[in-house]
Amino acid sequence: MGIYLHIPFCRRKCSYCDFNSYVTDESIRAAYVDALATEICWWGRALAGAADEARTTGAARSVYVGGGTPSLLTPNQLRVLLRGCEEALGITAGAEVTIEANPESASLAWLQDVRSLGYNRLSLGVQSFDDSLLKVLGRLHTAGDALRCYHDARQAGFENISLDLMFGLDGQSLDLWRRSLETAIQLGPEHISLYGLTVEEGTALAGQVRKGTYVTADPEFAAEMYGLAEEMLADAGYEHYELSNWARPGRQSWHNLNYWTSGPYLGCGAGAHARLGKYRFWAVSRPRAYIAAWVPGSAGVSPARPLVHARAGRPRSRENHRLSVNPLGLPEAALDGWEELTPSACVQESIMLGLRLGRGIVAAEFQRETGCRLEELVGPTLLELREVGLLDMADGAIRATRRGRLLLDEILARLFAGLEG
Ligand code: SF4
Repeated sequence: MGIYLHIPFCRRKCSYCDFNSYVTDESIRAAYVDALATEICWWGRALAGAADEARTTGAARSVYVGGGTPSLLTPNQLRVLLRGCEEALGITAGAEVTIEANPESASLAWLQDVRSLGYNRLSLGVQSFDDSLLKVLGRLHTAGDALRCYHDARQAGFENISLDLMFGLDGQSLDLWRRSLETAIQLGPEHISLYGLTVEEGTALAGQVRKGTYVTADPEFAAEMYGLAEEMLADAGYEHYELSNWARPGRQSWHNLNYWTSGPYLGCGAGAHARLGKYRFWAVSRPRAYIAAWVPGSAGVSPARPLVHARAGRPRSRENHRLSVNPLGLPEAALDGWEELTPSACVQESIMLGLRLGRGIVAAEFQRETGCRLEELVGPTLLELREVGLLDMADGAIRATRRGRLLLDEILARLFAGLEG
């Protein structure tokens, strides 16, 4: 099992961000950590008595504290959360314990404290090593801050560091992108994640696009940038193990691989998702509602001050059960919804996630998870996609080819149509 803890606070909203994160003052954070610790304890008790289909198999193999900006929490708050997981849920020896950090809010002292608490993997939101692009993105740090933070993290004893970079930005030439990649490679992190910028409705960036002050990247050019990254990272010895992720051998993120292979995970915190057996749960997204659900009577902040709600509004597309009965008896006020995954939803999810992986969909695993053979479900479509060079089938696995990775949406649309046909 993996455990995800969501910290939904940021100092400022980046122009492109539609994550569940809020610009708040410090006063709400202590109440939020109390609520999160309460939720973690609750899960410990609930899982001990859960029905078979929601039961997980023992202690957690990974903990991932993400956000938002987890580096806004104090080491003491992060200690409470990690010890809470250890005591209530159990964490295996040698587990991967990741914390996300933003360069401007992670000092050497903070990194040293956090490392000594047992966090052993750092995911650093660098995004670019070019100051003008960082400004366009609305980031608070400079390239210099990112370099300083990386070296501080090494000094603090982090031996497993991941860097996030973005491509497809307005004003980002191929040469600028190459230079950011070169800088990252020279630093030598164990893991690199690359994300193509997408403009989400409701974000500041979407407003800039409408006004014509931001120009979205041409998809062909973005694909060229992605191709350049594939070449440079392969030459530098990184394994392309997932669509957006590269790692040194043996340094893939266990936590994320667990998501992509449909493993069980808990998600605690505002807006977090959990998947246990055939059930999926998702929490209320507003921090104040989340706090009130887990620590009744707590207003979160006193006197009440409105949060600056900077989240982009995206309608929840999924029809879900509302909460009068949920299979684990989670407090109703804490949940936004839950669902029981149907067999066909499990099949679709396994296809969608499996094709993101470098190793592809492993036929035996797919059959174990879903009870079906993919060739029997969509055999003719698989062959067509192989014919046109988008899929590769060998060694008991089905993988997207290099070209297929760029056209994954098209592949999925054809396979899902094949499932319905
Ligand atoms: S992208 Fe920016 S605003 Fe969004 S969660 Fe990350 S740091 Fe916060």
